[in-house]
Amino acid sequence: MINRTSPPSLPNPLLELLHVDRHYRAGETSVKALDNVSITIWPGEFVAIVGQSGSGKSTLMNLIGCLDRPDSGQYRIDGREVSGLDPDQLAALRPETFGFVFQRYHLLGNCSALENVEIPAIYAGWEKPLRVRRARNLLTRLGLAERCNHRPAQLSGGQQQRVAIARALMNDPPVILADEPTGALDSASGEELMVLLRELHEEGRTILLITHDDRIAANADRIVSMRDGKIIEESPPRIPQGVNHLQARRRGAAGWFPEVIESCKTAMRALRVNFFRTTLTLLGIIIGVAAVVTMLAVGEGTRQQVLDQIREMGTHLLAVRPGAPGLRGSGDVATMTPQDASAIEEIPNVVSVVPERYARVTARNGNIDYATTVQGVNADFPAVNDWIVTQGDFFTVRDYQRYAPVAVLGKTVLETLYAEGENPDGTYILVQNIPFEVIGVMAGKGADIRGNDQDDSIFIPLTTGMIRLFGQNYLNNITVRVGDLDEIDKTQGAIEKLLLHRHRTEDFRVRNRAAVLETATEAQNTLSVLLGTVGAISLLVGGIGVMNIMLVSVTERTREIGIRMASGARKWDILLQFNTESVVVCTIGGLFGVTAGIGAGMLLSLLGMRVIFSPLPALLAFSCAFATGVIFGYLPARKAARLDPVAALAAE
Ligand code: ADP
Ligand code: MG
Repeated sequence: MINRTSPPSLPNPLLELLHVDRHYRAGETSVKALDNVSITIWPGEFVAIVGQSGSGKSTLMNLIGCLDRPDSGQYRIDGREVSGLDPDQLAALRPETFGFVFQRYHLLGNCSALENVEIPAIYAGWEKPLRVRRARNLLTRLGLAERCNHRPAQLSGGQQQRVAIARALMNDPPVILADEPTGALDSASGEELMVLLRELHEEGRTILLITHDDRIAANADRIVSMRDGKIIEESPPRIPQGVNHLQARRRGAAGWFPEVIESCKTAMRALRVNFFRTTLTLLGIIIGVAAVVTMLAVGEGTRQQVLDQIREMGTHLLAVRPGAPGLRGSGDVATMTPQDASAIEEIPNVVSVVPERYARVTARNGNIDYATTVQGVNADFPAVNDWIVTQGDFFTVRDYQRYAPVAVLGKTVLETLYAEGENPDGTYILVQNIPFEVIGVMAGKGADIRGNDQDDSIFIPLTTGMIRLFGQNYLNNITVRVGDLDEIDKTQGAIEKLLLHRHRTEDFRVRNRAAVLETATEAQNTLSVLLGTVGAISLLVGGIGVMNIMLVSVTERTREIGIRMASGARKWDILLQFNTESVVVCTIGGLFGVTAGIGAGMLLSLLGMRVIFSPLPALLAFSCAFATGVIFGYLPARKAARLDPVAALAAE
């Protein structure tokens, strides 16, 4: 406010309405609530506006209090034209100039008396301790020191109205606007209230009191009578002399952080009030987040398992199999020979080559028979496959060249044919009734990608097998180990060319295990995308649920929004509050979801699934829940922010 130098007898007008009109459109007809109203209020006055119900008193007060704007005419506050200001500018002007007292108190039912009084200071950006101290002082002054923590429902009407006055005084505004403040009170409480208003007036505050009760109006220094939207009678102003009337204060720069904290608290309160409803709404978010977390953990576990196996199989390996490409199970095609294997050895970048032939056989030790697989390989087999011998030795090149009847057992075969702890070295087993000397045992390797037990095998020199067991002279497989992994494609091409040249037809296929690895990883990525989609859809559904419930909440809490706006909340504050609420709801859903997801993952891991939790998917899912709150809360929050303060206050 500006202090102009003017004679003490004639201060500048504080509030000045000139030829103000305000119409309400109700369907086709238009109600003229204010018709060419001009009124001037001087600083420090106590004015009563009287008139019958429907005469336009409340409409006038809403205009004066910047809750509403005139359709035409001028309005000046301390000389400043305000009728052209937009809602946010009015919202900024309101709390520094006016404190409101309403007939129906308009307290927030879920907040204590103290918290109700604090509200204007929150929007003015006060620090918490400061505003609590001031709120407590005000309540104490109004005789409510013992009632600070009571809810409105626990207070009498008179007490509630005093809480409302404390709230109106919170920002220390120079003007108090009271619309039928005694209307809902018994006469004794009404008298007390009038005493209080007189006190405030004596402090230097300008009081505008609306009433239809002449006895109440008698407390004022000037009486303005209205009828049908017009001022019909006005007693002369009695401008107080020598009273230093209060100045409006500029509000501090409201920091957004304390507001967010307050919004979180309000959100938690709203959650508690509608616990069941909110929990149901959250289910979508919880399921979505839990699904993402669990599925990604399981997916990662499976992926690692596959990768481990492929790595164990060796990525430096090429497998050459008989049978045309695209045909399956053509292991019995008798086209690939040990000579092919020898020829492949000559190709550059080929480190070693293992020709292989398998047969199903019956192995016998003493009186134990066991059906297993025998694999004819060469002496390079352990080195090429990175597979070590734990007991004894693998057979040598000499054994291979001499057709030695020696055998190396896989772990499963050992465990089946021999008693535990028995040393098989040097003993003989019968393979298809042909005696073989056991010279070693392979380390356990477990199941391969397809789940076949790789330890359920007996390894013998291919040469021995060819003459004694297999009969015909062809191979099931040639394993080729390459030196330089980067050249593996070139080597593969060279092998294909060589075999094509030797066979004159493509009756073989060469498979690259690095390629198998790539395919497996790709398949896994596809799976992750799929799982992510499931999670995203759940989150979407959850988000829509949250949006829905927030819209309901805005409708239910319209009056609260009006009260907050009358207490100094701008559009942005309301937007922030409701969006924070949806974010809080979704964040809680996200937390529950992550917990549920980890729980489900642990359950699956108990059931034997490999599960790997990493913080990233959990964080991702959680962020998604957060984002859902921001995005789906925006629309309802915007709806709340766009409410008209007068209409919101009038809501049930
Ligand atoms: P008072 O407070 O003196 O009882 P109001 O200012 O509330 O009177 O109302 C003045 C006139 O405007 C009345 O005829 C009332 O019906 C009308 N009115 C008030 N608010 C609205 C509204 N939101 N929509 C339509 N008409 C309204
Ligand atoms: Mg009214």
